[in-house]
Amino acid sequence: MQNKNVVENTKNKLRVIRKTIAVANKKLIVQRRSVGYIENKYGEFYLNAMKVSDRWKDYLVLLKAKRYEGYFPIFGNNDFYLRLDSGCISGDIFLDDTCDCRPLLENAMKTIAKKGNGMVIMSLGQDGRGFGTEFKLNTLTLIKEAGIGTVEAFRELSGKKSVDKRSYDGFIAILKFFNVGKNITLMTNNPEKAKILESAGFNTRVLEDGHPKGNKILERNVKSKLKYGVVSS
Ligand SMILES: [Zn+2]
Repeated sequence: MQNKNVVENTKNKLRVIRKTIAVANKKLIVQRRSVGYIENKYGEFYLNAMKVSDRWKDYLVLLKAKRYEGYFPIFGNNDFYLRLDSGCISGDIFLDDTCDCRPLLENAMKTIAKKGNGMVIMSLGQDGRGFGTEFKLNTLTLIKEAGIGTVEAFRELSGKKSVDKRSYDGFIAILKFFNVGKNITLMTNNPEKAKILESAGFNTRVLEDGHPKGNKILERNVKSKLKYGVVSS
């Protein structure tokens, strides 16, 4: 039966892929645990569940390539479009318009679908600039009640000046796992992320997303991020 062959063939291609990847003098184990075909209003993608042996562990990678071998993308030296996303639960999933995460994610998917090669790497543990979802939710209420910006709210609640705990070795390891070429167009408002890619050996061109205008709180948060140079997810 033809269908049975397709099932067997597909199951074979879905096996876990595991690689040891060197990043910044460390060796990280990167695994692609599973891969799902999805369609949304922007196009067709594969969503990959990844595990990395760094402190953040779980990542999702939405990708599109012009060519695949066994659901593994072959990017070659084609133009490659990238977004590094900290997994904003309130914005990306629950459509919160007081931060700019969701429009930036949607812009990235639109561009990747149009250009044909690229990925969104989302860390599932770095919401709230690495402070976690639990912490971040309280900042959202403080922002609303006290009329302050996001950076000020993070400082108030954490008692710390530095309000970014994120790290990027896992993201870099995933890029290497998928054999992404040297040249990357990074979709971001955060110049720090471009520097991180450069220091990992990628030639990085930044495609500014612009700051979406929405409601008062969003605009205050964007201003707050710009003021402190702590930009975007
Ligand atoms: Zn957000």
